[in-house]
Amino acid sequence: MESTTGDRPGTDIVQAIDGSDAPVSTGDEAPLRVLVVEDDPDIGFLVRRALSRSSAGKASVVVAGTLAEARAALETDEAPSCVLLDLGLPDSEGLDGLVQLIAMRPSVPIVILTALDEDDLAVRAVQLGAQDYVVKTSVDWRHFGRVVRYAIERKRASEALEERVRLASFAADVGVALTESGPLPPALRRCTESMIARLGGALARIWVLSSNGETLELVASSGLSSRTDGSHARVPVGKFKIGRIARTQRAHLTNQVLGDPEVHDQDWVRREGLVSFAGYPLVVEGRLVGVMAMFARQPLSQAVLRAMSSVANQLAVGIDRKHGQDILAHQAIHDALTRLPNRSLLQDRLEHALARADRGDSLVAVLFLDLDRFKYVNDSMGHAAGDKLLQAVGARLSGVARPSDTVARFGGDEFVVVAEALPDDVEATRLGERVSEVFAEPFEIDGRQLFVTASLGIAVGRAGGDADAMLRDADSAMYRAKELGRARAEMFDETLRVRAAQRVTIEGSLRQALEQDQFTVLYQPLVSVANGSMIGTEALLRWRHPDQGVISPADFIPLAEETGLIVPIGEWVLKESLRQADEWRRTHPAAANLGISVNLSARQLLVPSLIDVVAGAIGESRIDPSSVHLELTESVLMDDVDLSIESLLGLRYLKVGLSVDDFGTGYSSLSYLKRLPIDTLKIDRSFVDGLGTEAHDSAIVGAVVALGHALGLTVVAEGVETVEQLAELRALGCDQAQGYLFSPPVEAHVISELLARGAGW
Ligand code: C2E
Ligand code: CA
Ligand code: CA
Repeated sequence: MESTTGDRPGTDIVQAIDGSDAPVSTGDEAPLRVLVVEDDPDIGFLVRRALSRSSAGKASVVVAGTLAEARAALETDEAPSCVLLDLGLPDSEGLDGLVQLIAMRPSVPIVILTALDEDDLAVRAVQLGAQDYVVKTSVDWRHFGRVVRYAIERKRASEALEERVRLASFAADVGVALTESGPLPPALRRCTESMIARLGGALARIWVLSSNGETLELVASSGLSSRTDGSHARVPVGKFKIGRIARTQRAHLTNQVLGDPEVHDQDWVRREGLVSFAGYPLVVEGRLVGVMAMFARQPLSQAVLRAMSSVANQLAVGIDRKHGQDILAHQAIHDALTRLPNRSLLQDRLEHALARADRGDSLVAVLFLDLDRFKYVNDSMGHAAGDKLLQAVGARLSGVARPSDTVARFGGDEFVVVAEALPDDVEATRLGERVSEVFAEPFEIDGRQLFVTASLGIAVGRAGGDADAMLRDADSAMYRAKELGRARAEMFDETLRVRAAQRVTIEGSLRQALEQDQFTVLYQPLVSVANGSMIGTEALLRWRHPDQGVISPADFIPLAEETGLIVPIGEWVLKESLRQADEWRRTHPAAANLGISVNLSARQLLVPSLIDVVAGAIGESRIDPSSVHLELTESVLMDDVDLSIESLLGLRYLKVGLSVDDFGTGYSSLSYLKRLPIDTLKIDRSFVDGLGTEAHDSAIVGAVVALGHALGLTVVAEGVETVEQLAELRALGCDQAQGYLFSPPVEAHVISELLARGAGW
């Protein structure tokens, strides 16, 4: 028999096999076949006569004179409908024969027909599985047919009940397995085990569809250990019997696997005595999630098939849901964009690495990587492009990492690599080099070649180290790399640790400095390149530390920015320098048009009250706002151009001048520059350095001057130290200059003296 269902999906499979020559013997129409095991021929005759008279009519009676003959009769393919067994046979005495025959044909009803009228024996016989105990001398032969039919019905009823219990247990097993939390494979394994135990399967297996939908992966297999060696571990959809069940989403049932052309290993079928096969697609809402299949050594009844069919639905839903849970669990510890481990999985891996590291004295390295100017990519090319870049970086990093390393996305444009079992920190440095090389080639994003760099911080640790501390250290080292000019790697060391510790102390003392007036402002003249006159001054902050002397802004401004203290400090600088500038203008006629330039930090630009603060300082000092210039570094402006434009427009409204500081070190695009409401460009010192000696620097400064003038801007050169530089600036048409050649930053009274002398250069 072979039955492959028509158009119906797996759920309707039981209906589909109805009407075919199903493996079930319903018994109603089939003729009664009674085996009489009895050495007294008279009894055989009486039985035959009684049954031929009964309503059944078509009973056939076979008599076996010994237990051996009875066994031989039962060995033939066709089982009798009922056995009548005498307890006193030439080769068997008592209930032993009963036990033997039940073992051979457990589903054939046996009625004891004996001369022994003993209650105890009768009870034992029924307990052992006999359907009835009939004493020959008290038989009413006219109604003997009833005895046989009752026995058959009782047996059928109890078997049906047993089967229902088994099938219900099967469904319950699967239900329990699938509702318990935990991974899918063990749960499915319990299902296949139950198919063996409850359905009488010889080999039960469940495949789950791979995520690409192309292959079925064997997830659970029970029974016939010879077949669990990996055969059919991966079945392409559409191939073999299993693959076809998947493709067609139709069940495949047969009670004749021997000779089935779809079961290739016929030797195996013969050897294992396999008779039947049932394979069901596991389908949820028309979507295939897997295949469940079972081989058995006996024909499969309709009830078994019905149970398998309904469990297939249950299983499909369960797999689908568990899959979903697995995906959720995966999502919880992976980054959706790059598919790399996320911060929490990374932390976990690092902790484990540090716990494992005590074998030998190998090192664990943490490499903290931050893309330089990622925001620029996002802003100029769009977030989709930024996402693609992050994915590409993640892929390249994974490419250079060893299989045992963990590459994780830590957040935004930050990645972390954890490497275990490094022999020494030279290896850690090498890892840093390998990672840096990832950025040597441009990234192709949306058809554009993008050169991207990254700043790297490396920290190494040993067994028992603290994962959080290592991450913090690597992060500090990465910041150091940024400070030192980006696109480089820095190793965390003791000086950084000291620095980190100092930071905490400095933060406390910065607050004190503000409260105790430890800040002062120095002023550096800005000079006209054309005639050497002082046009204005730049206010430069200093911290007079009671113990450490004068501390340069480079050493405390970054920290003040981090902590937000720059906001009150900056406000103080603004008020103080504007007050000073106004005082000069009032006391020195030569200072009537003297400008004052004040530096603003990124953090200040973000504070919404900045305009009020500036307006307040201008109002207090009563200075002409057009003589006030606020300087913002190029990188600050470019980090978020739209926000910058908004803030700057507000400041412009106050009529103050706006300068782009350190011009040339950031990444201004010309289109941005055009949009920013600025009036001055300050060329960074690094380009002024080589003026007169480096041809490139002259070219750059010349280009910036031309560009600035084309945009209607004033161009200032910073860090002018030599007359050669000044001569070159003059030749290039630069408007103003500032630098040690004229004066270092000096105290206010020095500027007052210069003004009094009417000094120029
Ligand atoms: P900046 O705005 O670029 O200031 C110019 C820096 O160059 C000053 O360093 C100045 O002393 C130095 N300098 C001037 N002429 C020469 C020269 O000929 N050769 C050399 N080698 N250096 C020269 P300073 O005063 O140490 O300030 C460093 C930075 O700190 C400033 O760079 C500015 O970004 C920041 N800063 C200073 N005061 C403030 C402030 O009040 N607020 C904010 N937010 N930042 C400030
Ligand atoms: Ca400046
Ligand atoms: Ca500058």
